[in-house]
Amino acid sequence: MNHLCENAASANEEKSLNFLEEIIEESIAKGEKHIQTRFPPEPNGYLHIGHAKSICLNFGLAKKYGGKCNLRFDDTNPVKEDVEYVDSIQEDVHWLGFDWAGIHYASDYFDQLYEWALVLIRKGLAYVDDQSQEEIRLNRGTVTVPGKESPYRNRSVEENLDLFQRMKNGEFADGEKVLRAKIDMAHPNMLLRDPILYRIVHAEHHRTGNKWCIYPMYDYAHGQSDSIEHVTHSICTLEFDVHRPLYDWFIEKLEIYPSHQYEFARLNLTYTLMSKRKLLQLVQQKSVMGWDDPRMPTICALRRRGYTPESVRMFADKVGVAKRDNVIDYGLLEFCVREDLNKRAQRRMAVLDPIRVVITNYPEGKKEMISCVNNPEDELAGRREVPFGREIFIERDDFMEEPPKKYFRLSPGKEVRLRYAYLIRCDEVIKDESGRVVELHCTYDPLSGGGSSSDGRKVKGVIHWVSAEDAVEAEVRLFDRLFVKEDMNNLEEGKTFEDYLNPDSLRVVTGYLEPALGNAKVGEVFQFERLGYFCVDRDSTPEKQVFNRTVTLKDSWAKMATK
Ligand code: ATP
Ligand code: MG
Repeated sequence: MNHLCENAASANEEKSLNFLEEIIEESIAKGEKHIQTRFPPEPNGYLHIGHAKSICLNFGLAKKYGGKCNLRFDDTNPVKEDVEYVDSIQEDVHWLGFDWAGIHYASDYFDQLYEWALVLIRKGLAYVDDQSQEEIRLNRGTVTVPGKESPYRNRSVEENLDLFQRMKNGEFADGEKVLRAKIDMAHPNMLLRDPILYRIVHAEHHRTGNKWCIYPMYDYAHGQSDSIEHVTHSICTLEFDVHRPLYDWFIEKLEIYPSHQYEFARLNLTYTLMSKRKLLQLVQQKSVMGWDDPRMPTICALRRRGYTPESVRMFADKVGVAKRDNVIDYGLLEFCVREDLNKRAQRRMAVLDPIRVVITNYPEGKKEMISCVNNPEDELAGRREVPFGREIFIERDDFMEEPPKKYFRLSPGKEVRLRYAYLIRCDEVIKDESGRVVELHCTYDPLSGGGSSSDGRKVKGVIHWVSAEDAVEAEVRLFDRLFVKEDMNNLEEGKTFEDYLNPDSLRVVTGYLEPALGNAKVGEVFQFERLGYFCVDRDSTPEKQVFNRTVTLKDSWAKMATK
């Protein structure tokens, strides 16, 4: 397995052309005037981060070379497809920041594809086969053993035309007949052993309704759809390289516009499943809250989780275009979102695991407003006022009764700075019967406001806080990896992907937030100082905000790996 986190990040600095850009520049040098690409999803699920890579590539190349990119729905399988998916795909492509030149559906080409099937039959290059799916499979042979020709292979053109029309007219049941290309049952490439072009499926299609009961197979529909749209560079993932001879065969035999297919390595991510079919299973089994559960690798989930389109595009860019399969470190995706949110997210204070601190020398009933910087990375973001009072919450983690050396946060008798506010010293630790710390009594230095101590003494630790009286309570969802296994493409024998679900992938806590966060809008992302980036979830109600943790400030998994 190849971990590309750091490498990909640095390789990207030098702007050499990737191999697809080289190919396109060659075609331009040879006189190609108009570059046309397409993104061709099958609307059988929500798009995932792998598709985002493909979207950035197809739309990005078209943009770079002054060409166009179409969105084409590869909707040739009525049983698995749905308008819900068609709509979500459009939303996701737009959200990523791209707009298509044309929007097309393979189903719009059903008439043309049918006509072309008749052309192949007339040329003696296609025949109707009555064998069952099972017989066809058995007679296909193996890589080393040639296949057996179907007894129906030498039907006359007239008979084939008649039978194919009757297939179309609904005279046969599902599976009773198929249309196959007549190529070579002994071909070393199994895909060319008389591939199936059409099968009978009596099912309603989400666009063509009941007009058709025969549907074209992927290989037959895809290249011809590219050709109809004059796609110059049909980019797909590596596993389709064995399909390319077939792609070319149809174009050659039909004598149509010659689109060309080029393959790149699909994106794989550590700890992540990347298959719509398997993701659908997670949704159906309720292993997750839905397609946009923030733990899912889908684009809608990343959006809900607080990822920005910029961060996803940055990721696609850093991953680069490879010719060989590899697995990208999930940390690279997190690195990108941190980079982006660091620039754009306003800072706020929130305490997720509180201890109450009583500042005993702070006047009772007094409240003051502390001026805080909204984003040190962005001067224009300005400042805000945060209430401060006699009782505050600090993070349980920021106090230790018996601290090791070099512990600079709060401990008995020691001082710490409250971010933007005062120095406090811990005088007394209050515990409950079980010995758990429930409250700290501290004193503050009234002359230490805004950053300076009265006598210049140095205090290293700075911790965040919220006023206990003013804090708003919110539900905070802390997400972790959905799976515990690094390489989800190589599962142990006998195990399914469900066996690797991380039981701790979601932890829900009550957070105490500075009051301004009570008015935050769904989708807004903030940095909770020292904790991470958090965004307002759509489950929020006027009574209770819900925040999702987008990402921690540091890669906790990398830290664990080096422990
Ligand atoms: P899935 O198995 O997840 O459904 P798919 O390849 O069948 O994936 P399609 O809807 O057919 O999904 O894919 C649309 C386009 O996105 C195709 O060109 C495909 O090659 C590309 N694509 C899909 N998955 C990835 C991935 N992991 N990395 C890069 N490109 C991908
Ligand atoms: Mg597919």
